[in-house]
Amino acid sequence: MNADLIIYNIGQLVTGKELPVKDGETRMENIEVLNNGYIAVSGSEIMAVGSGEVPSKLIKFTTKLIDAEGCVVTPGMIDSHTHLVHGGSRENEFLDKIAGVPYIEILKRGGGILSSVKATVEATEDELVNAAKKSLRRMLSYGVTTVESKSGYGLDSETELKQLRVNERLKLEQEVDIVSTFMGAHALPEEYKDNREGFIQKVIELLPVIKERELAEFFDVFCEEGVFSNEESRKMYIEAQKYGFKLRIHADEIENTKGAELAKELQMYSADHLMAISEDGIKALKNSDVIANLLPGTSFSLGKDYAPARKMIDEGV
Ligand SMILES: [Zn+2]
Repeated sequence: MNADLIIYNIGQLVTGKELPVKDGETRMENIEVLNNGYIAVSGSEIMAVGSGEVPSKLIKFTTKLIDAEGCVVTPGMIDSHTHLVHGGSRENEFLDKIAGVPYIEILKRGGGILSSVKATVEATEDELVNAAKKSLRRMLSYGVTTVESKSGYGLDSETELKQLRVNERLKLEQEVDIVSTFMGAHALPEEYKDNREGFIQKVIELLPVIKERELAEFFDVFCEEGVFSNEESRKMYIEAQKYGFKLRIHADEIENTKGAELAKELQMYSADHLMAISEDGIKALKNSDVIANLLPGTSFSLGKDYAPARKMIDEGV
């Protein structure tokens, strides 16, 4: 059988032979790298990878040939946690951050998530699409071909829906695959300070609307000290499950609130961050299908400890 497409002269070909990783064995360390490699594709399937000369039996008259000119070729990368669609920019807060001003203090000054919310509410849908496209192109240049994209910078129904519609428009561009997540519970807006329950109800009411319009596949909550408690999060997740949303969670990021345990209990797809995960949390994930989704960029930018990645892998998460 011959190929429709052959990429040859690959300096280093990183193959997915041992993937996907299903458990914590040493496979996570065993990524196969072939020097002077080639890859042959038929239709949408990879039919052969190897190193050295491309076997002539793979090539036909119509085979498209791409010379990688000695570059690295890897499977397309997946960015499985982003807040891609947003207005404004927060680089001005970085000076405060490195001067040691705590995140909660920045939030009190109207910065952090709340500053992005203000800018996202004010931005038009077209402005958000254009800004997100710019980010996506940069990501694509780094090899990212699939991006999960959350709402959560609206915190009001109208802007949450606007963010999710932007995701739909980005899908139509077909440059990068987009996976859409509704994250109406990303922060508690100032005006609901004394009415937490009222806000939670608002989020719950939006679930069927989003489902009906097919605007999101996943539902996500920022389960964190000072944001949404484990109990409040569970309540929203149970409702989301009823409507058929897949679940994921911002868990045990700054303080441990048993987010990993909640992820296991509700059989979520992923528990994200986990910088403050406990021994019990690691055990819970180990005995579940939940994916631990670590975000070292967050630790770096907040100046916090990193999640215990090696320990989790060794324990079989
Ligand atoms: Zn996040």
